[in-house]
Amino acid sequence: MKAITFHGVGDVRAQDVAEPKIVDPTDVVLKITTSAVCGSDLHQYHGRGGVLVQTGAIMGHEFMGTVEDLGPAVRQVRRGDRVIVPFSVSCGQCEWCQRRLPTQCTTTGRAVFGGRFGHVWGGGQAQWIRVPFADHLCERVPAEMTDHDAIFLGDILSTGYFCAENGGIRPGDTVAVFGAGPVGLLATQSAQLFGPARLFAVDRVGYRLKLAEEFGAEPVSLDRGDPAEQLRALTGGRGPDVVLECVGHETPFTQAIQAVRAGGTVASVGVYVEPSLGFPAREAFFKDLTLKMGICNARNYIVPLLPLVRVGKLKPSRIITHTMALGDAPKGYAIFDRKEDRAIKVMLRP
Ligand code: NAD
Ligand code: ZN
Repeated sequence: MKAITFHGVGDVRAQDVAEPKIVDPTDVVLKITTSAVCGSDLHQYHGRGGVLVQTGAIMGHEFMGTVEDLGPAVRQVRRGDRVIVPFSVSCGQCEWCQRRLPTQCTTTGRAVFGGRFGHVWGGGQAQWIRVPFADHLCERVPAEMTDHDAIFLGDILSTGYFCAENGGIRPGDTVAVFGAGPVGLLATQSAQLFGPARLFAVDRVGYRLKLAEEFGAEPVSLDRGDPAEQLRALTGGRGPDVVLECVGHETPFTQAIQAVRAGGTVASVGVYVEPSLGFPAREAFFKDLTLKMGICNARNYIVPLLPLVRVGKLKPSRIITHTMALGDAPKGYAIFDRKEDRAIKVMLRP
């Protein structure tokens, strides 16, 4: 089959690799119908954090497809079912899965499809994928929902919603979202469900800020100077009640803490690949702020968010700018990374 494999920093390739097969009785093999390139794939692409997947490993953790083959112990899905799967691999049985923290699954060692931690599972930028613990991981998708509407439930829509939820937004609040990439844009859509009076989107990429405006945000461009100062100026000197950090670098994390009002909340979902991060601890302390951060337990959000997408209260597919053949993924990575051709979300068609 064709798959996108990792060969070093900035080097992913379309290659022919062996097709996955059922190994454990609880496995399914999916024929992938749609996959995507995630901002988290870019950390690997950049070689951030120094821990790289092996040369030849299959990339990608955003995918959906139809069940083509299944092990004898699978009960909840059948051949031909169209399913969505979360980005992290979890068993559904261990203490952490039972605590609804599947990203902490000890059975899989906190693994992610196509990732570099824990047991290494093949990724979703491929024609086929082996999904373990299928009864727990696969969620059937209603026939009337398109792949482009459903796929982000497995990762970036759930993550954006999780970030907004962690922000504890109350009706009438002022909210600022750092990052108008795919995650920040879906955090912006999600934040609107909680009834903020004002919503700001912070980025430097003009066409991304334009889309955030369509989702009801007021744009704040990094090109106009320090975002914390701009946000204070825009809020009568006080700063937003809630700041959602959707970038994953020390600078926006610091700016989020500087921007939030005293007693406010910073919720961060940007991935920090490096083992530690400098942040203005003194300012955070004297501001009495609340800080929440973490990897999204997307499995928990697929079922509750699906109806919101189905009725159009969340419109995740609006962020899609490119749909290309799987074999063109190396170009997809490059334009997404360099923000060329007005790229926001790049979809792959196996
Ligand atoms: P992206 O790289 O396309 O988006 C990041 C955006 O932030 C870009 O538009 C960039 O211009 C902007 N930016 C850079 N510096 C900034 C600053 N100082 N202030 C404001 N904006 C700034 O990626 P994405 O797909 O949107 O992902 C965003 C982050 O979310 C990544 O770190 C990704 O790994 C992470 N992520 C986390 C989870 C989770 O479970 N926590 C899940 C998915 C993705
Ligand atoms: Zn992701």
